[in-house]
Amino acid sequence: MERKQTGLNNGGNNCFFNSVLQLLYDCTVLNKYITSNNIEGTILNIYKDFLNNYNNGSHSINPSKITRHISSDLGRNRNTQEDSDVYLTYIFDCLISEINDDINKKKIANLTITSANIKLCDFINSLGTIKMKKHITCSVCSNVSSSDENINKLYLSIDKDKNFSQMIKSYCRDELNGENKYKCDKCNKKVDAIIDRTYESMPKYLFVTLKRYNNRNQKIADAVDIPYMFNIGDKYEYHLRGIIYHMGSTGGGHYVYYGRRNNSFTQYNDSTVSDVSEKEFEDVKKHGYIYLYAATKIYK
Ligand SMILES: [Zn+2]
Repeated sequence: MERKQTGLNNGGNNCFFNSVLQLLYDCTVLNKYITSNNIEGTILNIYKDFLNNYNNGSHSINPSKITRHISSDLGRNRNTQEDSDVYLTYIFDCLISEINDDINKKKIANLTITSANIKLCDFINSLGTIKMKKHITCSVCSNVSSSDENINKLYLSIDKDKNFSQMIKSYCRDELNGENKYKCDKCNKKVDAIIDRTYESMPKYLFVTLKRYNNRNQKIADAVDIPYMFNIGDKYEYHLRGIIYHMGSTGGGHYVYYGRRNNSFTQYNDSTVSDVSEKEFEDVKKHGYIYLYAATKIYK
């Protein structure tokens, strides 16, 4: 299906949120659920208005209503450049949590969705939640302590190899030592320990954010080897659908969203939407900030 290509006006330093809205528009299963069911919620209603305007817009639309609302929730100062990542996490969490409120209120959480053959509540949470198990092994007594960890985004540190699968591996295996020692209940003292994370279930939409800013708020502009497609286990196959790209320095700069459909690539730069070459997309892919992957194996 063709994606609607509507630009978003920039009312003054809003590119960070325009790029988030363009990325969310590519979460088609989420948007379809929101627009085809009669659901209500503060941010849901504003987001539905936005989707409606987007779908009916000709060249570009003014997203100021949703931008103002989310900015005010987050206590943003007027017309300052902000971090897309914070806004994406906030709005996505709000949408999922308001949908959950709605299905709980209607007492339909346990209804089975026939197309995916799972409970409605599990379907909603599977749109964005990464369910992991965290196992911490004490280096002194070898005791293993396990706990659940639900997250909605992978934050990956850029390592020396600049290799994606290596970065995911490092995310899953971490060491606690130095100032970050682990308090082992069995030894009853602070010890060195190893963290191992294993995936329990993965979401339809996987957001991957590269830590492109160091402790001194400097940008790490290194090229990273990011794949178009990767697998997690034999159940999840992820395809790259879009990238939020930040150009310029930490204090200012400009955010743009790049979308990918089959073999066509599009740049969403505020009110301007234009096709770009695969070569340009390839370059952006190496230097991107937030990546949207969609799983194709779990809901065919
Ligand atoms: Zn111990």
